Amino acid sequence: MSKDNIMNTYGRFDVVFEKGVGSRVFDMNGKEYIDFASGVAVNCLGHCHPAIINAITEQSNKLIHISNYYWNTPNILLAEKLINNSDHNKVFFCNSGTEATEVALKVARKYGRLKGNDSKNIILYMSNSFHGRTMGALSVTGQPRYQKDFLPLISGVKQIEFNDIKDLKDNFYEDVCGVIIEPIQGEGGINAATTEFLKEARKLCDKYDSLLIFDEIQCGIGRLGSLFAYKKFGVIPDVISIAKALGGGFPIGACITNERASAALVPGDHGSTFGGNPLGCAVALAILNQLVDGGVIASVEEKSAYLKSKLLELKERYGIIDEVRGMGLLMGIKIKDAKAFVNLCFVEGLLLVTAGADVVRILPPLNVSKEDIDAAINILEVVMSEIKE
Ligand SMILES: *Cc1c(COP(=O)(O)O)cnc(C)c1O
Repeated sequence: MSKDNIMNTYGRFDVVFEKGVGSRVFDMNGKEYIDFASGVAVNCLGHCHPAIINAITEQSNKLIHISNYYWNTPNILLAEKLINNSDHNKVFFCNSGTEATEVALKVARKYGRLKGNDSKNIILYMSNSFHGRTMGALSVTGQPRYQKDFLPLISGVKQIEFNDIKDLKDNFYEDVCGVIIEPIQGEGGINAATTEFLKEARKLCDKYDSLLIFDEIQCGIGRLGSLFAYKKFGVIPDVISIAKALGGGFPIGACITNERASAALVPGDHGSTFGGNPLGCAVALAILNQLVDGGVIASVEEKSAYLKSKLLELKERYGIIDEVRGMGLLMGIKIKDAKAFVNLCFVEGLLLVTAGADVVRILPPLNVSKEDIDAAINILEVVMSEIKE
C-alpha cells in the first residue's frame, strides 16, 4: 500500500483511520481518539450515526442518481425543509462549499447585469476570509497565501477590511452587485463579524441594490445554535451558501436565495451533474430531521456554555491560552504555536484543527456528550501541563 500515488496537496498526520462511532475514531492500530475536528465541522452527528446509515441504506436501495432532467422526491423535500426554516424561497443544490460560493457569485453577477448597468459587477469580500479553492471562490478569499501562486484571478472583486465599517462605506457604490461575508470566519481564525458591521452591510446593499451573501458553510447548519448563522446576528442576507455539516460527511452543498435574488438565474445559467441527487438529499434530510426536529440544535447553546466555561478555567490555570473565541460549538483558543499544540493533542488522542498560525479550532459534533467534552478537556489539560514543564 503506497501513499505516493496521492497528489501532494495536504500536510497530513501520519495516521490511517479505519472506523468511527459518535465522537470517537480509531486508527488502523486500534488507537482511539476523541474527534473534535469533526472532519472540519462536517460530522455534525458524529461518526456513523444510525440516521445517516439508514438514509444511505434506504435511498440507495431506491434511487441513487437520476440527473436534473427529472425531479426526485428527496430533492424536493430537502429544499422544502431548508426554505421552511429560513427567510428565503429557493435552493440550488451542489456538492461542496466552494461550489456553493460559485453559485452565490454567479447570482450576484447576474443580479447586477439585470439592473441594466453593464458595470454593476463588483463583488466586495473581506480580509482574512475563506470561501473555497476554485478560481472564483479563491478570488474572493482574502488570504494571499492561498492566492499567490494562481494569479491572475477573476477581476471585478475588491477586498474590504473585515469589520471596518468605514472601509466598507468608502468602497460601496452603484457598481457593487454583491458583498460576501462569513458571519464567523472559520479558516481565518474564528473571528466573528460585529452585528454593527453586518447591519451596515445590509443597509448599503439595500441602498445600492446589491446582494448580501453570507457564507455559512462552516458556521451554519446548527453550529452556532441555530440552523442558520444569520439568525444569531439579526441580519438577513439575500443569499446563503451552506455545505460541510449539511451532509454530515456525504458531499452536498447548497445556495439559498430570497425572492430578490432568486429571479436572477434562469434555465441554462447554472447546473451540476451530481447536484441534488436523491442519495445526497435523502442523507441531508435525515440530518436536518435530527438537528431541527430531534433537538440537537436546541442543545448546542448549553453544550457551548459548558465547553466555554471549561476552556476559560484552563485559561485561568495555564498561561498558554491568550483568548477563548467563538460561538456555539465553533470555538477557538488563541495560542502561540497552534500547529505544535494540535500535534501534541493528537499524540494524546484528541483531534483538533488549526485556524491560521495562532488559533486552535474546537469543533465537536453537535450531539457531543458532556462526558466527551470532559474527556477532551482532560487531554487539553495534560498537554498544557506538559508545555508548562
Ligand atoms: C470549508 C469552507 C469552504 C469550502 O468548502 P469545500 O467544501 O471545501 O469546497 C468555503 N467557505 C467556508 C467558510 C468554509 O469553511
